[in-house]
Amino acid sequence: MTGTVVKSTGSWYLVREAAGGQLLRCRLRGKFKIKGLKVSNPLAVGDEVEFDVEAQTEGAGVIFAIGPRRNYIIRRSVHKSEHAHIVAANLDQALLVVTLVSPATSFGFIDRFLVTAEAYHIPVRLLFNKADLYDEETADYQTQIASMYASLGYPSHLCSARTGEGVGEIDAVLDGQVSLLTGHSGVGKSTLINALVPDLDLKTAEISQFSDKGVHTTTFAEMLEVRPGTYLIDTPGIKELGLVDVKPAELAGYFPEFRARLNQCRFHNCQHTHEPGCAVREAVEEGKIALPRYESYLSMLGGEDNRR
Ligand code: GDP
Ligand code: ZN
Repeated sequence: MTGTVVKSTGSWYLVREAAGGQLLRCRLRGKFKIKGLKVSNPLAVGDEVEFDVEAQTEGAGVIFAIGPRRNYIIRRSVHKSEHAHIVAANLDQALLVVTLVSPATSFGFIDRFLVTAEAYHIPVRLLFNKADLYDEETADYQTQIASMYASLGYPSHLCSARTGEGVGEIDAVLDGQVSLLTGHSGVGKSTLINALVPDLDLKTAEISQFSDKGVHTTTFAEMLEVRPGTYLIDTPGIKELGLVDVKPAELAGYFPEFRARLNQCRFHNCQHTHEPGCAVREAVEEGKIALPRYESYLSMLGGEDNRR
């Protein structure tokens, strides 16, 4: 049988069977290794697996094969940088919930997420939540920011999880996709999930029934069914995703508006910080690259994520 991992606790996997859609508790057969990746978990939410249900395992499945991953997102362990944790695999898109007020999400955080998603080849949409709190000035500001990000290839949606404004538009972009939903705590992610997923309490209860007793599973992602074919991956407790294997020399390539200008710098190894004849800095000075984006680049270049 084939199916998709909808939750993992480390030793058990909850798998949605592809044909009938029922949820089955599964274990891994033998030792599982995935080539080239040093990770603490062999399987993650979104992985496609093959499994058997054997009589002697009391209705539980045994996973014996995993399908190729189209992409994945990982979180680096705080303590051991070589031991990354795969948060989710096979995503069609990532939705980043952000706010301009109560609280305001920083550009640094947004840009860091966008770079991560670029590195993983995952399209991103920005969801500006709490629109009901906007005054006229904030609304204008949101329009400007949204159009800046749209010009880079990241569409935005304005919504209020509280009033329901814009939620229908978000539901439409979820349709038929596997979408990762994430954001800083307090931005209204839970409220939005409640607005998007019918019978959320029932579905969450059904999923958590399968969790190991005594194991804290709140930091594990889970895949929620919005309707058949449409899935939302919630990532509780995950504030920041790890930027793995992005070397300083590669960083500029993950900023789409830099990418287009990289071969115009005088030096081929230009880091776009101080070098003469730098096309990126020139574009910043001419207002063709937004200053906050360039500042995000500099901060990431000097930051911990790229020291490795
Ligand atoms: P999470 O930490 O991202 O999951 O955020 P929550 O969904 O728990 O929401 C955090 C707070 O923001 C709660 O007090 C919500 O009621 C509030 N909130 C969520 N969405 C909206 C919104 O669209 N408008 C307003 N005014 N408040 C919201
Ligand atoms: Zn340059």
